[in-house]
Amino acid sequence: MRLLFLGAPGSGKGTQADIFKESMGLVKLSTGDLLRAEIQNDSGLGKKAKDFMNQGKLVPDEIMIGILENKISEFEAAGTGYILDGFPRTLPQAEALDKMLKRLNAPLDAAILIDVPEDELLRRLTSRWTCRNCTATPSFPDGKPDDAVCPVCGSNDLYQRDDDKRETILKRFAVYKENTYPLIDYYEKNGLLTRISGEGTVEDISGRIEPVLKAL
Ligand code: AMP
Repeated sequence: MRLLFLGAPGSGKGTQADIFKESMGLVKLSTGDLLRAEIQNDSGLGKKAKDFMNQGKLVPDEIMIGILENKISEFEAAGTGYILDGFPRTLPQAEALDKMLKRLNAPLDAAILIDVPEDELLRRLTSRWTCRNCTATPSFPDGKPDDAVCPVCGSNDLYQRDDDKRETILKRFAVYKENTYPLIDYYEKNGLLTRISGEGTVEDISGRIEPVLKAL
């Protein structure tokens, strides 16, 4: 099974991808997590990506497409199904993905769009923290208590990403509208898109996605 999850920053696509990778025995490739790990390791790729990310900009297509082609080749060679979270984010990325999957005779099964109104996204993102230990992103809408721990792994090593600050978030929304929004049309036209309302709890949203994936 080959899936991709689309949605604005804060739509919860990463959380949902985590839920379904477990229940469906897939691996998740989050390009945002991958880039953050590279930055933490201070690698060459991390150094190239850091400024783009901290300013809320996209990392250039040629870098992202190269990374993705390597990863997809690994998954396909191992016969592992996967969920892409955060890729593609531009039309050239979507076209490169299509081209590669065509060459491998490995068609995408579905593109799941998680749809959330912008005021709700802004509220979620400004209250979002990230767990350094397991990369979960717990939300604290009334401020993070001093003794807060990660609800997934229990670590108290929580931090707020530079790109989750208000000014950067507004920039990320603008980038999403300009670059990623056209992908909705792209996947609608090729018949792969399913729109899911991203309002409500994590369980509400996964309850809407589950029957769609079961039907595939
Ligand atoms: P995310 O965790 O998916 O919100 O990604 C965080 C940041 O990583 C984005 O704001 C971009 O700067 C960068 N990024 C992640 N995936 C991509 C991609 N497919 N293309 C370009 N930049 C990306």
